[in-house]
Amino acid sequence: MIPSHPDWRWQHGHAATSLADVETLFPGRFDLSGLDRPGIEAAIALYGMRATPYYLGLAERAGEDDPVWALAVPSPRELVTSPEERADPIGDEEPGLHPLPAITRRYRDRVLLFPTPTCSVHCRHCFRKRMVGNAEYAVTAGDLDDAVAWIAAEPEIHEVILTGGDPLTLGDDKLLALLGRLDVLDHVWSLRLHTRMPVVNPFRVTSALATALGRLRTNTLVVTHFNHAAEVSEQAAVACARLRSQGIDVLNQSVLLAGINTDVETHRALIWALMRTGVRPYALHHADLVPGTAHLRTSVQAGYALMRGLRGTVPGYALPRYLLDVPGGHGKVPLDYPWVSPGVLGGLRIEAPDGSIHHYGSQATRAPER
Ligand code: SF4
Repeated sequence: MIPSHPDWRWQHGHAATSLADVETLFPGRFDLSGLDRPGIEAAIALYGMRATPYYLGLAERAGEDDPVWALAVPSPRELVTSPEERADPIGDEEPGLHPLPAITRRYRDRVLLFPTPTCSVHCRHCFRKRMVGNAEYAVTAGDLDDAVAWIAAEPEIHEVILTGGDPLTLGDDKLLALLGRLDVLDHVWSLRLHTRMPVVNPFRVTSALATALGRLRTNTLVVTHFNHAAEVSEQAAVACARLRSQGIDVLNQSVLLAGINTDVETHRALIWALMRTGVRPYALHHADLVPGTAHLRTSVQAGYALMRGLRGTVPGYALPRYLLDVPGGHGKVPLDYPWVSPGVLGGLRIEAPDGSIHHYGSQATRAPER
């Protein structure tokens, strides 16, 4: 049973913030008796918890072996912080990248705009854990005015990425007013919305919102964040279809998470669930060095093994790019499986998807040069 009250504000307002809330929302549904309740409560006290009834209802059982539960409910393992972890793992707030409270600019042509630190669900792996739900990161109307004016004065910026927090937790009036002010800037050619609402509160994507987004003059796309096929529900599919029906591309970025989506068949099921829904897998992020998330991170070798196993089992255009955000604000680099390595006599040693090894382009196989 999913409490699928089809009103996004109801879902947001009734989000569970404790195990007691889970029991109240789902009487008798989840067996919490096997959980380390004091440990979970200590993790909630440290990092907070927030999960919509809809999203929690996608879980089949209470426990970290359920992917939705593991992504929504704090784990006692979050109480352990590793030395390499950092509060701002991808350097959003590095001096030089963060000219205004609502702006981060890491690349010449794109800028991140943070209109809110609010999310409907506090994902356990979130790379912006420090800011999500934290009033210190709330921006004022004046901050947004300054941000829009700053973008207007930067003609090299061609894409504005609304991120957060989750920009779709803003009401239509605020969100569309902000987008409308960006939409009139001649040098802004793309508006990108990073949102997990289609996953955790799909009722947010109303027909009215999708229609309004489709009417923007500027090319608009939505990048969402499904991590497991269990999240690709009928309601999520309706949300994505509404956006697509208005000409809005919907891409997905997932995070490689231990115990959730690292094995080939689980990840393949996610990719096909997305494809069936018309959502293009786009990026697979290596999990960032977020405090208290060592239990969710894998090695890069595990990521290679996944990418190695996926190639040839899904269409090439559906394979996400495996990416690492270089800590400290240095941008993303692809972590491609090393299919090709230097071979003999200046050629290449190539591993084919079927596992066979080939040598290509060596001096020995080239026609003699004249
Ligand atoms: S929706 Fe995105 S920003 Fe919000 S908690 Fe989840 S991962 Fe973080």
